Amino acid sequence: MKISKDHPRYRSLVTRERMAAMVEEGNVSTTGLIAHGRGEAFDYLLGEITVPEAGLAEKVAAALLLRAKHPVITVNGNAAALAARELGDLARATGALVEINLFHRSEERLRKVCDFVEKEMGMKVLGREQDAVLEGIASDRARCTSQGLLAADVVLIPLEDGDRAEAMVKAGKKVISIDLNPRSRTTLAAEVAVVDEITRAVPNMITWAERLGERPEEARAVLEAFRNQDNLAAIMRRICVGLDQGAADRSER
Ligand code: ATP
Ligand code: MG
Repeated sequence: MKISKDHPRYRSLVTRERMAAMVEEGNVSTTGLIAHGRGEAFDYLLGEITVPEAGLAEKVAAALLLRAKHPVITVNGNAAALAARELGDLARATGALVEINLFHRSEERLRKVCDFVEKEMGMKVLGREQDAVLEGIASDRARCTSQGLLAADVVLIPLEDGDRAEAMVKAGKKVISIDLNPRSRTTLAAEVAVVDEITRAVPNMITWAERLGERPEEARAVLEAFRNQDNLAAIMRRICVGLDQGAADRSER
């Protein structure tokens, strides 16, 4: 479909086309499209921009990944479809390993997503052979690798489900989420919650990782000063104020 660049939702429409094509290729599941729609709704309420609080969380997230001993980035179908290449650049900039973890897992789909991500990233990923289990999750969604997720001290989990996020926290990992819903279980479980659209969040995190990589003192200081709960509260206020303002504008008309 040809989409006019003048359309106010141009970016969102192009992304939808991309997601639909990824379903046809078998990288994204059909319910992944619904999860994407939930994200879009929150993005709409945030004005489809990186709000300042999200920008700060992205800086802190980069610092946490840089200071980790064994950082891992987990990638599912939606994250692969939207930002595989950029997540690879972030892994390189922070020394993180990448592990594929699918919500709707089948051997065939796992192979497909691993192949796709390795091609996009130009590097090897973990997850093809899952030799470990993350405690506290029913079903084969618990499967992971001992070298990657199980050994990680810090895990970046873009667009992750709440069950798995909570299980990672229980297992003692520091979790960084990228999730547009400021009230999702994933966001609430995270030590650093990035409430931003993944295609905006990851490039910002790469920029910060490159800068803070050369300034370890600053990385330590931003981590120390960060208050995740206050930051999240400010984002929720932003959404409420925006809606209130919209309601006021309407009643004046
Ligand atoms: P939870 O399980 O954490 O309570 P959920 O069940 O509402 O959340 P899931 O489908 O498990 O949601 O996870 C997908 C999450 O990813 C959603 O919270 C959605 O808002 C978010 N999301 C979807 N697309 C994007 C995107 N492009 N960028 C950032 N976040 C997104
Ligand atoms: Mg969920």
